[in-house]
Parts: sequence; structure tokens; C-alpha cells
Amino acid sequence: MSGLLHDKNILVMGAANQRSIAWSIAEAVHREGGRVALTYQAERLKGRVTRLADELGGAPMIECDVADDDAVRRAVDRLAETMPVLHGVVHSIAWAPAEDLQGSFVETTRTGFAQANDISSYSLIAVAREARRLMTEGGAVVTMTYAGSWRVIPNYNVMGPAKASLESSVRYLAADLGPAGVRVNAVSAGPIATVAARTIKDFSGMLDLLESHTPLRRNVTADEVADAAVFLLSDLARAITGEVVHVDAGAHAVT
Ligand code: NAD
Repeated sequence: MSGLLHDKNILVMGAANQRSIAWSIAEAVHREGGRVALTYQAERLKGRVTRLADELGGAPMIECDVADDDAVRRAVDRLAETMPVLHGVVHSIAWAPAEDLQGSFVETTRTGFAQANDISSYSLIAVAREARRLMTEGGAVVTMTYAGSWRVIPNYNVMGPAKASLESSVRYLAADLGPAGVRVNAVSAGPIATVAARTIKDFSGMLDLLESHTPLRRNVTADEVADAAVFLLSDLARAITGEVVHVDAGAHAVT
């Protein structure tokens, strides 16, 4: 498997450290011959992300807090200086207050619900709107979701409706941007121990349970999720849009 993304410019959003799914995707894009640009949320992450960018031979890095439309617009303007044409965007970003990722769902706060949906779902629309300015040759948008969107997962709580909204946006964006040759898809990953995932109460219990229940009798790795993202970014997936692809060792089929 080599060169699937040869000569393609890909923006990867959401690498905070080496465990981030976004980082595995950035590495896989690089391996497949794509040029990677990284965004990071805030100054406090800059040092860590600089080290990641160095591992890719000095990938361009741009700060972008997706809670702010102007910041998203500015980030794409800055990206245009090094990548005037963009072929792919990876949106691997989510956030919810820790207190809304445990206990009883009915106690979800109005603020927590709004924040989770703003950062984890609305941001895909904001990013797609700005990124399409540079996707003049068509391209692909890939976001990350989880099966808590359509079934109840203990403690996933407020992120469930946020991911349901994200997946619905994937379909609406696919319909909107398809005529311009831009495809929009999601990867629904099985649980992986990242910083975001560990905010969910008893996350490791979920990993243990799935290990004995999935058809493949194991959990997935970030590298496996990244390979699926590469496929969706590549021309091999040229007729696939508005889709949610499960990369979860088959968990979705048996629960
Ligand atoms: P992570 O903590 O490594 O990545 C989350 C990223 O979101 C971080 O880089 C963080 O800086 C960024 N972020 C949060 N708020 C932001 C903001 N306001 N502006 C810009 N960036 C912001 O965790 P991860 O598990 O790699 O998460 C990536 C995506 O994968 C998320 O959408 C998550 O829901 C999804 N996902 C994760 C799993 C899992 O088990 N880890 C499973 C399925 C889906």
C-alpha cells in the first residue's frame, strides 16, 4: 500500500499528542505520499504539536480553536499561503464537559449540551464551509464519530446526541458539496485510549468488555482507523459520500 494520496494536500485537525487519532491519520497520509498540514487547538499544545510536525518533515502548523468562526476562517486563510489547493480535510475534534460524561443522562446541563454540540458537531460545518474555498479540484472531508450516536453507551451521554447530529451533518454536507466534487464521510471508530476517550467515566471497562464481544475478539488501533480514513480521502473512495464507515472490529454488528 503506497502512494494512495500522492501529491494531495490534506489538512488534519485534532492532533494533540501521539495518541490522538488525528496523529495516526497524519502519519498515514504522510506514508501515502500526501502533504500534511496540522491545526492545533491552542497555544498550550503548540510545543507538542511542533514535535509531531517535525516528525513529518516540518508540516505546516496553524492554531485553530473551532469554537470561533473567525479563527476557522483565519486558519484557512493561513493554510492557503502554503496549500492554495486543498484535497482533503480530516476533522478529528470533540469535546464535552467531563461532568456530562458520567452519571445520569437526564442530568445533562443545557450548557454542556450546547458546548458538546458546538465543538463536536457544528464545527464540522464551519470547517467545511471555509475549507471548500480551497477545494477547487474537488476533495474529501472525513470526520470521526462513535456508535454512541445510535445506541446507548454508559457514560457517553451528551456525546451521543452530538455524534448523531455530526453524522446527520455528514449527509447534508455531502448533498451540498457533492456537485463541487467534494465528498463528506465519517469513520465510526471503536474505542481507543486517547485523552478525549479517557474523560468518559469507566472507559477502560468498555475496552475490556468489547475485547471479548466483538466479532474479531479485540479492540481496534488508531492505525487501523487511520487506514480507513486514508481510503476515504483517496480516489479509491471516489463514489462514496454521505457514509459512516464502522472501524470497530465488528462491534456494531453484534450489539
Ligand atoms: P484527542 O483528545 O486526542 O483528540 C481530540 C482533539 O480535539 C484534541 O486535539 C483537542 O485539542 C481537539 N479539540 C477539542 N476542543 C477543540 C476546539 N475548541 N478547537 C479545536 N480543537 C479542539 O482524542 P481522540 O480520541 O483522538 O478524538 C478524536 C475524534 O475521534 C473525536 O471526534 C472523538 O469523538 C472521535 N472518536 C474517538 C474514539 C476513541 O475511543 N478515542 C472513538 C470514536 C470516535
